[in-house]
Amino acid sequence: MREKKPFYITTPIYYPSAKLHIGHAYCTTIADAIARYHRLAGDDVFFLTGSDEHGLKIEQKAEEAGIQPIEYTDKIVASFQALWKRLDISNDDFIRTTQKRHERVVQEIFRRIYAKGDIYKGEYKGLYCTPCESYWTEHQLDENGCCPDCHRPVQEVSEEAYFFKMSKYQDRILDYIESHPDFIQPVSRRNEMINFIKQGLDDLC
Ligand SMILES: [Zn+2]
Repeated sequence: MREKKPFYITTPIYYPSAKLHIGHAYCTTIADAIARYHRLAGDDVFFLTGSDEHGLKIEQKAEEAGIQPIEYTDKIVASFQALWKRLDISNDDFIRTTQKRHERVVQEIFRRIYAKGDIYKGEYKGLYCTPCESYWTEHQLDENGCCPDCHRPVQEVSEEAYFFKMSKYQDRILDYIESHPDFIQPVSRRNEMINFIKQGLDDLC
């Protein structure tokens, strides 16, 4: 008999600033098909999806609506869950980043990283697009000096921030990817990632 193997799959946890679109349904349906395949093959499957509920855009949308961010995301998240039910998605759990069980784990991970000395305080300077919640470098901007994604004006932002010493782990990550050929699939993405890391990783804000 085939050995029963644990199999974990997750979609991205979607950002509930607005209703979902067909792209989210596409991604979740593919994950669902893979989860169902592994269940049929007898594996011990855990299939997760959820919502990523923190960020400036949600705070602003809630303010516009005159409600608390959690009230705003409660409504949108209910629409996520109704959609997955309608599409008969077989997820085993639905995680919300506002749930206590999620906060506890994140705090523990940050505590461990901090205890290892891999978090330090620095200053982040950049060109920020609020609607996209993205920082851009000068050469990424479009021909009008605006956000390359939504083409709205960007703001120069400088703030005190904490950084994770990602640069310290560059060689270990590269070694791992190179010695585990199946770790990133397909091969084209694996090569893209290897080239990206070889250019040098910055510490992460
Ligand atoms: Zn933008």
